[in-house]
Amino acid sequence: MGKLDGKVALISGGARGQGAAEAKTFVQEGAQVVFGDILDDAGAHVEADIRAAGGEAVYVHLDVTSEADWRGAVQEAVSRFGKLNILVNNAGIIIPRVPIEERTGDEWDRVMAVNAKGVFLGTKYAIPAMRQAGGGSIVNISSIAGIGQSLHQEPAYAASKGAVRIFTKVTASQHAKDKIRCNSVHPGPIDTEMLRSAMSDPQVLDQRLGRVPLGRMGVVEEIVAGVLFLASDDASYVTGTELVIDGGALA
Ligand code: NAD
Repeated sequence: MGKLDGKVALISGGARGQGAAEAKTFVQEGAQVVFGDILDDAGAHVEADIRAAGGEAVYVHLDVTSEADWRGAVQEAVSRFGKLNILVNNAGIIIPRVPIEERTGDEWDRVMAVNAKGVFLGTKYAIPAMRQAGGGSIVNISSIAGIGQSLHQEPAYAASKGAVRIFTKVTASQHAKDKIRCNSVHPGPIDTEMLRSAMSDPQVLDQRLGRVPLGRMGVVEEIVAGVLFLASDDASYVTGTELVIDGGALA
């Protein structure tokens, strides 16, 4: 028996990294999965991998900043699989840190649009479908940047992830009456293309890992385990909280 038997899940940013691993694991755990991204070729590959392994998943083009795309993705889940039980707001971007005088308003807006507005829009379109299904679970991927370690963070990224953290708590409080739970996951440095591109200088990466008591990057499976717990009925009394998975970096 899988932990997500009978559930229908929607995952954003599922073409690679943590999102792709979540899509694969959710299918292995019995869910029917719709996942979206802006990287359509990579998304199609993930879909083919899942189907080749005998699972059921559908890739859709989903730019998380687009209301029309979110509406379409939720509709796809409901029309294809009959309902929506789980939303993982995973898509995110980071930008290189520069002195604040050099940061443009457009760059700030872009980070906020993908990382914060994207979470709001996904929640906005998922909640009516979850209400219809009698309840659900929303898991928002924030970051330890949304909680602390502020000396070393890129300001727009940290602010966007802090917004996700508090939006999660408000959503949890206001939609408990709908039997919808909402929690955030706060990864530390995880070995994905995002981290590798943000820390392409090995010295910078070493410094970063020097601040992690466990002394290494995390791997996507270590995040997926936490996301799976929060998405599943194992976390039926868990809402409005934050799960930090960071090798001790915030300790
Ligand atoms: P990643 O870059 O491999 O994956 C991010 C995915 O989001 C990509 O597939 C990308 O195409 C997608 N995406 C970007 N903009 C999008 C948009 N507008 N619409 C839809 N999809 C979009 O990185 P990852 O590590 O797998 O990141 C997953 C989440 O984890 C992100 O929210 C990220 O901020 C967060 N996170 C990552 C780390 C880390 O060290 N890797 C640490 C803390 C938090």
